[in-house]
Amino acid sequence: MIEQARLILKRVFGYDEFRPFQAEIIADILAKKDTLVVMPTGGGKSLCYQIPALLFDGLTIVVSPLISLMKDQVTQLTQSGIGVAVLNSSLSPVEYRRNVKLIRQGKARLLYLAPEALLRSNMLELLTTVKTECLAIDEAHCISQWGHDFRPEYRRLVEARDHFPKAVCVALTATATPRVREDIKTSLHLVPGSEFVASFNRDNLFIQIVAKDHPVDQTIGFLKKFPDQSGIVYCYSRKQVEDLYSVLMDKGFSVRPYHAGLSAMERNRNQEAFIRDDVQIIVATIAFGMGIDKPNVRFVVHFDLPQNIESYYQEIGRAGRDGLRSHCLLLFGYADVQKIKYFIDQKGPDEKRVANIHLGALLRFVQTEVCRRIPLLNYFGEDYTCGKCDMCDNCLAEEKELVDITVDAQKFLSCVKRTGERFGSNHLIDVLRGSKAQKVLQFGHHKLSTYAIGDDYSKKQWHQLARQFLHKGLILQDMEFGSLKLTQKGWDVLKGDMTVRGQLEPEESVPPPVTGSGKADDLSYDGRLFEIMRKKRKELADESGIPPYVIFSDKTLIEMAVYFPQSSDSLLDIHGVGAVKCERYGALFLDIIRLYCRENNIQQRSKSPG
Ligand code: ADP
Repeated sequence: MIEQARLILKRVFGYDEFRPFQAEIIADILAKKDTLVVMPTGGGKSLCYQIPALLFDGLTIVVSPLISLMKDQVTQLTQSGIGVAVLNSSLSPVEYRRNVKLIRQGKARLLYLAPEALLRSNMLELLTTVKTECLAIDEAHCISQWGHDFRPEYRRLVEARDHFPKAVCVALTATATPRVREDIKTSLHLVPGSEFVASFNRDNLFIQIVAKDHPVDQTIGFLKKFPDQSGIVYCYSRKQVEDLYSVLMDKGFSVRPYHAGLSAMERNRNQEAFIRDDVQIIVATIAFGMGIDKPNVRFVVHFDLPQNIESYYQEIGRAGRDGLRSHCLLLFGYADVQKIKYFIDQKGPDEKRVANIHLGALLRFVQTEVCRRIPLLNYFGEDYTCGKCDMCDNCLAEEKELVDITVDAQKFLSCVKRTGERFGSNHLIDVLRGSKAQKVLQFGHHKLSTYAIGDDYSKKQWHQLARQFLHKGLILQDMEFGSLKLTQKGWDVLKGDMTVRGQLEPEESVPPPVTGSGKADDLSYDGRLFEIMRKKRKELADESGIPPYVIFSDKTLIEMAVYFPQSSDSLLDIHGVGAVKCERYGALFLDIIRLYCRENNIQQRSKSPG
């Protein structure tokens, strides 16, 4: 059976290899063994029940909490030539009847439903007329009160199991906490047995955290490095979303806002524009993201500090579902910590304790000097044994040259001391650089001997230095107010008993995005051909009213721009090109590639399958 599954993987979905655990999960489902699947976002959970659905005689029912998620999957499966039906309130009566007919005639392999719809008597009546082989519960954490998205209607799903006693049950979630896992298993009466927990490491996400000095300029600088790319900027409040949105609009970025204060229609319109690549950037509160399956989100910026590691992980998880390198930038400032602390203080004692623990974990992650994946994965109970990922700022920083920064440290530490250990780095840097800011004059800090002794460095360079002093334990930061104090080690440096080595960076370095003539999996691809194909894809998508990625993913287009396939056979070797898509769109893309190759004298390259 698993050999047949492999054939479907290639022929229908156009993929060469199973991802970790997919083959094992599929084998268990085919053997009718109940299964719990825990995999991070983008890990490839859907395929685990979609492939068995194509191998079973009868129907696979997929329970999903959001209409948008169902819609997306149905569109994608239809594009791959799979018979699929959905029954929900968004359908017209004609569409509804057509889908019922598909089910009755056994033409639908998969049926997507909301949990409450499945338990309605007329639905159960309809479904008793067909053979149901598998019940897949997507976003299964919704069943648990311990999860972040509890939905009471999920609790009743166990009743559905009694109606389909022959159906194997597979529950899928991206929430890793053991408590939620247990809850899912007991609530659904899953027969003890298989449970697959994949690694939560998303190795294509580059994680970077920088000090929040001038957040708007920092964000603009960052966005400029991603022309024509999709991404999300998360802000803490609706007001912040609106403010940043207006600035970005004025600067000519392709951007829309999203927050709970907008009308449902506006939110929908903005989300849809993003999904269809009509708009590149969404500035949003955490209200945005659930139900977004867009695979080519190339960056996620946290303009403000996220609530806790779990939400941070969820939010950055929306980047790079297609497996291509994506950049996650967090701007970290102590003012944000104070804001979160303020809200924590409003809570009751128990909630307060938990929230403080979460905040502590988040701060440890933000302030760590080691590979960021260590504290991040540790939070999810996973040991990151590699020690070094080469995909976070800390790992890359280690390779830079260290120089003697003792004198710089002495200047800074002396300024900390002379201003009474009551100020944060922004003010101290103003004093060091001889600023005439009101606050400097008001405290008479322009009269100090440390005033203007550091004007040879930019603010950015001083901030980078200050962070290193903090990491090296020369100073301590008050978690509540952000003020800096000297440690014993700091004193030793100040007195000249100890030297300090560190980095002095000329400019903030950001790894290049994957646009233009770039690299994918260590292969250079032709940026111009990629752009021509991207335009064609958008045209075709607009004609059919579907998102561009449903036609071909970015990764597929990139591979085409690496190997220049010129026949249907070689096109079928490309990642993500299955038989139906090849037939539907192959000729159009082959024409583009052939013409481009002729004009530029380029030969097809061979891609050895596997
Ligand atoms: P999840 O539901 O776990 O968030 P999806 O099922 O949406 O993830 O899969 C994420 C992306 O990975 C999709 O574009 C999917 O087609 C792709 N994918 C899944 N399995 C494979 C595979 N074996 N090889 C290549 N791509 C895959």
